[in-house]
Amino acid sequence: MQQYKVIIIGSGFGGITAAVNLREKEIHDFRILERRSFMGGTWCQNTYPGAAVDVQSPLYSLSFEPYPWTQMFAEQAELETYTNYVIDKHRLREQTDMETNVTRIHWEEEEKLWYINTSKEKYKAQFVISGSGPLSTPVIPDFKGKDSFQGASFHTNQWDHSYDYKGKKVAIIGTGASATQVIPAIAPEVKQLYVFHRSPHWVLPRPDYKFSKFQQKLLRINWIYRLLRSIIYWSLETRVIGFKYSPFLLKLFGQKKALRLLKKSFKDESIREKLTPDFTIGCKRILLSNTLYPAYCRDNVNLLFKDQGIKEITPKGISTMDGQEIDLDLIVYSTGFDVQNSMISYPVIGKNNSALSEVWADFPRAYLGSAVPNFPNYFIITGPNTGIGHTSAIFVIEAQMNYIIDSIERTLQSEYKSIEVLAEAEEEYTKMVHREMEKTVWNNGGCQSWYKGASGKVTAMFPGFTFTYQRLAKNFRQDHHSFMP
Ligand code: NAP
Repeated sequence: MQQYKVIIIGSGFGGITAAVNLREKEIHDFRILERRSFMGGTWCQNTYPGAAVDVQSPLYSLSFEPYPWTQMFAEQAELETYTNYVIDKHRLREQTDMETNVTRIHWEEEEKLWYINTSKEKYKAQFVISGSGPLSTPVIPDFKGKDSFQGASFHTNQWDHSYDYKGKKVAIIGTGASATQVIPAIAPEVKQLYVFHRSPHWVLPRPDYKFSKFQQKLLRINWIYRLLRSIIYWSLETRVIGFKYSPFLLKLFGQKKALRLLKKSFKDESIREKLTPDFTIGCKRILLSNTLYPAYCRDNVNLLFKDQGIKEITPKGISTMDGQEIDLDLIVYSTGFDVQNSMISYPVIGKNNSALSEVWADFPRAYLGSAVPNFPNYFIITGPNTGIGHTSAIFVIEAQMNYIIDSIERTLQSEYKSIEVLAEAEEEYTKMVHREMEKTVWNNGGCQSWYKGASGKVTAMFPGFTFTYQRLAKNFRQDHHSFMP
């Protein structure tokens, strides 16, 4: 059994940031466990046609690794290159075990160690940092007859590049952020594309911009990169005012713009009506696209709405509620991720044999979205209520790292072996989060989204400014923790 001071689960931006931050504090005794055959997480896994980031790249990048981006909203290939550039620059491959899927971890109180079972070896570690990512378990709903389909089918998250979709009859189910990027990318090349909307989403123009060679040179100058980052950060941060405090502002600045885009894109009022969501903009993730609606106007693209929804998947294609029999070669499932049930994708057994899944039976909760009472020395990256809908998730990961690395460093520098958040501190934090959540658009906007769990509580989002979260994470509270010898 191998033993390390710290085990990091996952090698996406969360795991990468944790590793680099540990090294900065001279903590070198760590190992990264990655379940896939490649490192990098989201942008190395989501390779569907059209994949691109929807937050400006100079901000959607690690603060300690600026990059001369070729465009404002980088495409998947460039993001994959960037991720690998960071991994290689920091020599993280040599401290990573690949194809090592964590199957269970449990805390041994006597030894003050975590035991980590994986698909390969077993490990022991004093600390575990979990960066398995909330959007990593794709969901395919159990449509009647799904397995009888004789054509090809796959989820956007597991795009099969060996399948040639050119000239084929293709259906795409779902119209969220992933579908919005796939549809315009494949529409010109397929014979027919059938787009199944269960509900329409709000779409805003995408202010993309290609950097010239000269501008890319400027991006290599540190202070210019940082200035651009700050400008983007503060302009995006103002959106929280709408999300949290003012549906009026959301409607004034967001919804009106989205309605204008609809009007400009479609002459037919009945189509516009069908594509107009019945919830307040921002309740679900706002989609940014200049190419989705033009793709919808193509002759080979067929829009199917709720009353033409999927009745059954048949060996040849899809039967719809209104009696159509659609022959298909390929079904693309763009039906999202299981965020609520697979925030942590392996069983975690803490003190007194308590299972994290039971502690979270009502809803997932954690102090700063990172630490749970009775689970000493265990930290979750992008845990409950750390999501954001308006800015860079990487900014939040880096903010969270202040708390996680600080906790580990304080423990290692003390005479104690473990650190644990106090139940009262977690309770108080969680109450504050859900009190602040009450008036947000994610709670009141009139939609059901992956931000909300079965409890009806919004458990994915942080209800406030990211600088508020950053301040909380930076300000380590000794009185909120107990240390044990
Ligand atoms: P999603 O936003 O959850 O969308 C899932 C889609 O599938 C929705 O349109 C949903 O309809 C539909 N659907 C689900 N179950 C269905 C069923 N049983 N029958 C018919 N339709 C069904 O998933 P996603 O598009 O993969 O995006 C997930 C998240 O990933 C995003 O919110 C975003 O945070 C992230 N993402 C980011 C980017 C980026 O540009 N950075 C790109 C892609 C994804 P309803 O709306 O009616 O539920």
